[in-house]
Amino acid sequence: GTMLRVDGLEVRYGKIRAVQGVSLAVETGEIVALIGANGAGKSSTLNAICGIVKTAGGRVTYRGEDITGLPSHRIIQRGIVQVPEGRRIFAALSVEENLRLGAYTLESGKKIGAEMDRVMAFFPDLRERLSEPASNLSGGQLQMLALARGLMARPRLLLLDEPSLGLAPLVVRELFALIPALRDEGITILLVEQNVRQALAVVNRGYVLESGRVILGGTARELMENKLLVESYLGTLESRPRD
Ligand code: ATP
Repeated sequence: GTMLRVDGLEVRYGKIRAVQGVSLAVETGEIVALIGANGAGKSSTLNAICGIVKTAGGRVTYRGEDITGLPSHRIIQRGIVQVPEGRRIFAALSVEENLRLGAYTLESGKKIGAEMDRVMAFFPDLRERLSEPASNLSGGQLQMLALARGLMARPRLLLLDEPSLGLAPLVVRELFALIPALRDEGITILLVEQNVRQALAVVNRGYVLESGRVILGGTARELMENKLLVESYLGTLESRPRD
């Protein structure tokens, strides 16, 4: 069935129309990419879906329920969790304490412990550092911690906002390898990425945003073969490194 449906979404900041009638759908078990240049409206779309910014129009439907305008904590309770761009991690707290902060939707300590074990299976690096302050972690490990913290809330739908931003190529590869593994755990994923080539390698479908509008949508294969997308985001065929 359909996990998420966005119809005619509008987001405004004063006079700026950041999102202008965006419609998209994510089926249960899919990985879907939102692609676009800086300022295209990708973050605003994610933030509107999870209730962080107010919508100026349109509708967000999640598992058949209209969630437009619900406060973000209600949306998280329903299973939509956003991992924010950058790394809003508490540096003075330990890795474990940061993870526990992600689990506030779980009631008992026992449940939190079980969840921690389940999530840490994906992050062996972090599991070895549970008691260390987060300030000891590298940039890549911090980003992994942000993702792990999001998973502690047991999302059904995970919204990832540029998870690879600022990471070294090796860490980016590690991160992109995790995404299908999370999907295999039953998590549906909507992914904002500027790393278009790597994103298209792991997603089922994608939408391209420009100036707050969806200008293109299709399967990963269709997008990879789309001339406009190749020229705008993947470099021209001539400039592409040969392998
Ligand atoms: P980026 O990759 O740079 O985050 P994006 O595609 O996610 O880009 P948005 O961050 O959604 O784009 O921004 C869309 C438009 O809205 C841009 O013109 C941006 O300057 C503007 N904008 C975003 N957030 C705010 C805000 N809090 N106040 C005013 N304008 C904003």
